[in-house]
Amino acid sequence: MYKKFLVILLLTMGALTNVRAQRPNIVVIISDDHAYQTISAYGSKFTQTPNIDRLAKEGALFTKAYVTNSICGPARATFLTGKYSHLNGFKDNVNANFNFDQDIFVKGLQQAGYQTAWIGKMHLGNHTPQGFNYYSLLPGQGQYYNPDFIETGNVRKHYTGYVSNIITDLSEQWLDQRDRSKPFCLVIGHKATHRTWMPDLQDLDRFEDKTFPLPKDFFDNYATRKAAQVQDMTIAKTMIMGYDLKMFDSEAKAEKEGTIARMTPDQRKTFLDHYNKIYDDLKAHPLTGKALTEWKYQRYMRDYLATAASLDRNIGRVLGYLDKNGLNKNTIVIYLSDQGFYMGEHGWFDKRFMYEESFRTPMVMRYPGVIKPGTRINDFIMNLDLAPTLLDAGKASIPTEIQGQSFLPLLRHQNYQSRDAMYYHYYENGEHSVSPHFGIKTKRYKLIRFYKRVESWELFDLQKDPRELNNIYNTARGQKLAVELKKQLAALIEKYKDKEARVIFDREIN
Ligand code: CA
Repeated sequence: MYKKFLVILLLTMGALTNVRAQRPNIVVIISDDHAYQTISAYGSKFTQTPNIDRLAKEGALFTKAYVTNSICGPARATFLTGKYSHLNGFKDNVNANFNFDQDIFVKGLQQAGYQTAWIGKMHLGNHTPQGFNYYSLLPGQGQYYNPDFIETGNVRKHYTGYVSNIITDLSEQWLDQRDRSKPFCLVIGHKATHRTWMPDLQDLDRFEDKTFPLPKDFFDNYATRKAAQVQDMTIAKTMIMGYDLKMFDSEAKAEKEGTIARMTPDQRKTFLDHYNKIYDDLKAHPLTGKALTEWKYQRYMRDYLATAASLDRNIGRVLGYLDKNGLNKNTIVIYLSDQGFYMGEHGWFDKRFMYEESFRTPMVMRYPGVIKPGTRINDFIMNLDLAPTLLDAGKASIPTEIQGQSFLPLLRHQNYQSRDAMYYHYYENGEHSVSPHFGIKTKRYKLIRFYKRVESWELFDLQKDPRELNNIYNTARGQKLAVELKKQLAALIEKYKDKEARVIFDREIN
């Protein structure tokens, strides 16, 4: 009897060990404001992103990955919780301190035996992070040059160098010293490519000889779209010559605006020499009006793409580390941005709107043995789905209040119910003057309700008008289409328990 029990016990332990052994490591690399329009895996002609492309080639490219609320902190809060902003409490970047007492996917992975870490940018307020065995975080937005990090136990450390490189250094160090008896989940949060797009010194000249084509809607007049008429995020008016484009009349001015304040004398010299030469040239051939706006667009593109070059190179370093350490076969690697970004479309930079460029985010995923190399996923996937997917991959339980859906069955060609529509809600009503709004995107249409700053409905036929220039809500056809779309929107509001949106939805407007 005793012997039989022992045999069963040993078999059970063996099976458990086997299950454990099968569980993948997880690396999620999440950047900030990186536009799919600038990634060659998505067909961009602006630049090459060989390392993101490598992930897509060896795994899957998500062509329809979207976010619930297109702004930094709220997008990361949704990533951690698998819930919409109104339920995780982090609706905007203004008053927000993320509540770490709530359930987040890394806690579930920890309980299932994973060791977890977040290294780099998190920017979720001042609370001490929970759910991570180790963290080393940029305070707030962080700095591109010579940044400080807050490490586990609230220890502040200063580093000399460029932020994207340091984040990778710290990630490799953590992987080196990790407990090798356990699987790991490492989140690498990049500051790049957030404003003000400061490149690594070695990349300063990378795009200087390139001229980029203007987006077709660069000089959009915002006809039919009230919220677009009142925004404050244009390259023409909002983008600042000094702060954003590094055109400074004096070193003192550059210092005052914070751009070079943290640099060593050598860094400062290389940086200022580069930009002063460009500014001198502009002063010698002054521009105004549309010509100046187009010049600003070229400057923006060059700085942004040079900043992204370092990001891609550092993704390559992580992939190289996994290769070298025999971790490439049993590690899931996901790369995504916190949300999308405007690269001059509608004349804009920044994000926030439910229009495609900011609503949609780049996402690639490598999962050897599960995802066939070169896969394209065309289903509607949301950042809401990452928490349940990663819990699923780690064989941890998925809390019932999670609003996302694991897409592992989709990758495994098992039974999977694709979304036919997505729900979005943006709240912040401050910087850049983008009116709060919520809405629905179906395979063909997008219906948006703006409120607070602007009270209006917008409806787009994405098949006929992919750039979303022609709001047809007030046309006869639009009114007819809106009846059915409003029913679907109301159902999503109900499904996701967004009570605030329901009240606004029911309010009549002209
Ligand atoms: Ca962001």
